[in-house]
Amino acid sequence: MAGSSGPIEHTAPIVGVLALQGDFREHIAVLQSLGAEVRPVRRPEELAQVAGLVIPGGESSVMDKLSRMFGLAEPLKGAIRSGLPVYGTCAGLIMLADRVLDAIAGQQSLGGLDISVRRNAFGSQRDSFETDLQIPALGQHPMHAVFIRAPVVEHLGEGVTSLATLDDGRVVAVKQGNLLGTSFHPEMTGDTRFHEHFLNMVRSRC
Ligand code: GLN
Repeated sequence: MAGSSGPIEHTAPIVGVLALQGDFREHIAVLQSLGAEVRPVRRPEELAQVAGLVIPGGESSVMDKLSRMFGLAEPLKGAIRSGLPVYGTCAGLIMLADRVLDAIAGQQSLGGLDISVRRNAFGSQRDSFETDLQIPALGQHPMHAVFIRAPVVEHLGEGVTSLATLDDGRVVAVKQGNLLGTSFHPEMTGDTRFHEHFLNMVRSRC
């Protein structure tokens, strides 16, 4: 075919969504709408085939248990260390944090982001809310953000960039090298800028 220069250049990178628990279907739909080839990831063999991974929202303590039970926790840690682009939302952000505050007994994270994250930081009175955030790294328009029993980032190590804060200054989106994390759920609002940013991170590494 005219203009075709072989299958390799035309193959879109395959991105995975950790599909043990939580709202992985919503992430798959957003990534597909952006033209990505997407696979659910539940097993180490599936992880080995993806060039980037989204860890969805859900319940981090359950995701932690399932990832260890399915033999996925160690391969995930290895992939993170070796530079796989990973985007975590809400429970996914907790999974990526080096330190988890208000974890349940025995709860572990995968780590990678040099942050302390506090689970359920808004308490039961305000456990879910929506607000508009300024995210300069993603353009001028504010982003409508949905928080559901959300964590906040309480301490950022030197290599970590804050991408968004609430009006009171609390950090709710971060980036460090190959890792991106948000306390909120862009997969629910139709604003695809975080997913596009993640796909750019994947493409620039391929
Ligand atoms: N509170 C949940 C947890 O600790 C996160 C909630 C979410 O992902 N929407 O994992």
